[in-house]
Amino acid sequence: MSDAFRRNDGTGKQNIVSAGPHTLRLVSGVGRKGPACFVVETAGKRLMLDLGQGPPSGLLPDVDDVGPLDALVISHGHKDHVGGLSLLAKLGNPPVYATEIVARGLPQDLQVRPLPISGTSDVLGIEVTTGRNGHAPGGVWLHFAIGAGLLYTGDWSKESILYAYDPPAKTAAIALVDCSYADYDRPIGECWSALEPFAERGPVLLPVPANGRGPEIALEFLRYGRTDIYVDDATRRVLRQLCTTDTASVRSGVDDDLKALAATAKPIDGARGIMLAASADGTSGASKSLLEQWEHAGAPAIVFTGYRAPDTPADRLIKNGRAHFLRWNVHPRLADAVALAHDVKAKTVIPAFCDRSRLDALAQAFAPSQVTMDGPVKL
Ligand SMILES: [Zn+2]
Repeated sequence: MSDAFRRNDGTGKQNIVSAGPHTLRLVSGVGRKGPACFVVETAGKRLMLDLGQGPPSGLLPDVDDVGPLDALVISHGHKDHVGGLSLLAKLGNPPVYATEIVARGLPQDLQVRPLPISGTSDVLGIEVTTGRNGHAPGGVWLHFAIGAGLLYTGDWSKESILYAYDPPAKTAAIALVDCSYADYDRPIGECWSALEPFAERGPVLLPVPANGRGPEIALEFLRYGRTDIYVDDATRRVLRQLCTTDTASVRSGVDDDLKALAATAKPIDGARGIMLAASADGTSGASKSLLEQWEHAGAPAIVFTGYRAPDTPADRLIKNGRAHFLRWNVHPRLADAVALAHDVKAKTVIPAFCDRSRLDALAQAFAPSQVTMDGPVKL
């Protein structure tokens, strides 16, 4: 039990109180791109929000002084949010809360308690509201009824044509907001305008995350009239799940196109058409071997669309001119992040997953909300 949970009530006894102080610790993920890991301390309970690994690959949050937890709450199944589960033993093996779709991708021996994909639930006596994050299958943002409200967005986007997004409706004095793109502010339509010409000129390989923008970019090409779409096994599996078990994460009105895509997309077999293969940075999966095969060939064109960590095939091929980088928005552009902070009436915004060098620009954009990248933050 941390002293932060106790106050002297004048009786000479140290009592645990339910009305503060409440604290948010920024263990990892604020001040630079890195694994997500935050700890909320409230009313004698200690909850961790996400426990990621990388980027860069292999980097784990430093949890040495965190101590035993009462729960780990997971926003979505991407590695930088959930790849640090090997650290759970150090944290007292707490129960893990995740949506059913995310839980399916977690180790079988994990004790997982369900979070609704959209709705209100109880986590250790704390009211937690979740909503779809528009970013990944099963992914949610989380609102905690702690203090004057805490919103943790995890990764999110309101621009996805595939993944559904539920705008948070409850106020949150403190908003820990995905600002992976810092002050970048271009709409996703511009991403498409830049990407589409590559596919007009000839075969193109897009290394993508299967459970993220891979199916989404494929869907956009299908809607544009392309039928020469090829995907790796991992992307095909996610496509099938989005049509069957994971429909809760899909925007309404998309089902028919998605089913058409699942039926149309063929296995990758040579350099032709629009090819989408995991992983996003080429360090593993089908894209790793395809990049090895095509790095020194004239075709296909290779386009990376996501974050590129140093010392990855993505980084190397972009630097040596073999591949292009064209961002495909899966995180909020600045205008959307600012609107969210305004909508939830955030007094303090903590921009996550971007570099500290962007702090001044973000402070200006989020004003009159205060902006900080320093913890611990009082809730
Ligand atoms: Zn993510």
